[in-house]
Amino acid sequence: MRKGIAVSPGVTIGTAYCIHEVFVDPARATLQPHEVAGEIARFESARKRSIQDLRLLQQKVEQQVGKDAAAIFAVHESILHDATVVGKVRAWISDERLSAQASLARLLEHYRELLHRSDDEYLRDRLADIRDVVERLTGYLSDALTKDSGFFSGPIIVVADELLPSQVVMLGDSTVHGIVTQAGSQTSHAAIIARSRGIPAVSGVAGVLRQTKTGDVIIVDGREGHVIVNPDPEVLTAYRKLEREFFDLRDQLADNRDLPARTKDGQALELLANINGVADAKSAVAMGGSGIGLYRTEYLYLTHASVPGEEEQLEIYREVVAASPSGSATIRTLDIGGDKTVPFLGREKQEANPFMGWRSIRLSFEHPNFFLTQIRAILRAAAPDKPGDPPKAQILFPMVTNLEELRRLRAIVRRAEQQLLNDGKVFGKAPFGMMLEVPAAAVMIDELVKSVDFVSIGSNDLVQYLMAADRDNPKVSHLCQPLSPAVLRVLAAVVRSCNQAGRPVTLCGEMAGQPQAFAVLLGMGLRRFSMSPAFIPSIKELASHLSISTAERLLHNALKLSTTRQIRSMLNKELAALAPNLRPILMQ
Ligand code: PEP
Ligand code: MG
Repeated sequence: MRKGIAVSPGVTIGTAYCIHEVFVDPARATLQPHEVAGEIARFESARKRSIQDLRLLQQKVEQQVGKDAAAIFAVHESILHDATVVGKVRAWISDERLSAQASLARLLEHYRELLHRSDDEYLRDRLADIRDVVERLTGYLSDALTKDSGFFSGPIIVVADELLPSQVVMLGDSTVHGIVTQAGSQTSHAAIIARSRGIPAVSGVAGVLRQTKTGDVIIVDGREGHVIVNPDPEVLTAYRKLEREFFDLRDQLADNRDLPARTKDGQALELLANINGVADAKSAVAMGGSGIGLYRTEYLYLTHASVPGEEEQLEIYREVVAASPSGSATIRTLDIGGDKTVPFLGREKQEANPFMGWRSIRLSFEHPNFFLTQIRAILRAAAPDKPGDPPKAQILFPMVTNLEELRRLRAIVRRAEQQLLNDGKVFGKAPFGMMLEVPAAAVMIDELVKSVDFVSIGSNDLVQYLMAADRDNPKVSHLCQPLSPAVLRVLAAVVRSCNQAGRPVTLCGEMAGQPQAFAVLLGMGLRRFSMSPAFIPSIKELASHLSISTAERLLHNALKLSTTRQIRSMLNKELAALAPNLRPILMQ
């Protein structure tokens, strides 16, 4: 059994599909002369299948996200048609009698050498595209993975170091039942996407790729953070039972979809959804969320070959708003930088501390035209159906650090409004909100809150900055803990300040969907929570077992304890007694 970080709850059992960069079996790296023609044919067949895949992906993404978003797959397809690329691989097979996989490994090495040295960030980013294409081809070249072999008939557990953008898109396919990654943590991309799709996942499992091969039976326990490869029959039976319990509970909880979210003593709550695109907005509805509390628009940019235009953004924002159960959505402006980069808005050079560097609004300020385009699109999406109706979108700015930034943001919004008036475009007065995720802003919240219409606490970042522990680094995940006494004190003070100032406050970090954290946040006076859609049913159920006075007592008790471990174990015990039916999903 391997221990990792539990990042998306649930127990699942399936067949491992290992995503290696390129796996070359040393015993089969070179060919006999008579094998050459067959190897070229195998390469050609893999190339043809990959082209078909990419066309399908392109269509799918075009329908779900938009035309520009699908452009990345056209770029990948063009690599498969590139005469130099294809010529090199064919020549290595025929002249040097390398296997197709060994030739692809050499191709990757060749471009790595070539592009790494380049000063041009755009060219360096192309390396990721070549890697993506090579991995796709390798998938078809390794016999186990050909779709005809029937390998894909059962549930698949993806095992990878980290997930690439195209692999993340593929996860929408229902055959992927679980994810195990070597890198990453609770709040890394793979984890957030796994949760939004309700796929059990464990991250930070060092060495798992070396110890697992495609085709192995693998158990993923996303509640405890355990991964078991090729289990004994008794272990398998025990986990099959847990798997059933988990899915039964999930189906049962999904039945509460149409019930309002209320505490045991009748206090109404807002349980909103965090989404990354239109498809997630639909799952927010399916899970019974009351609206969209955070739309991370960077995914729109991450999948595009260039900056999406105002009309295209508007179209997507309108779709999100239309899909939202409340008919309105909180749209966050671009939060790029940190662990997310886009080639066309990239960094000037590699930063030593990207999470503390040029990210979010800091980057947007330096691209005023792109920034204005996005703000205009959001304001236009906010236009109510008829005058007097509330606006259909709220605008949310990430990573606000100080009052100067808020003033600058207000001025940009005013400028966008003025431009729209001059252009004769219809728009709405979108409420103006800040994400609270920088400790300096938490200290100054009493002042800052007066300058905004609402606050959204980004606990994923707030926790990493407060604890000085990178949210994506498994080595320091023991420090990056939302239930730590320091974090709870800061959050309690922020919620109090916002409530005193009469400004709506939401928490939209991943902790909103964790039962133990939810209970203490409720005790702090928080009434609006935004989370991955998959968590909404269980939090709604938990809320129905908790009265406000109980939540206040739990918070009071938690604040008296001095370590994260004590707090977690006290809350686990209390919640298991209050809501025994939720035991199968209570994470460690
Ligand atoms: C956060 O920081 O808590 C948050 C919700 O934003 P993101 O995870 O996209 O940084
Ligand atoms: Mg954040």
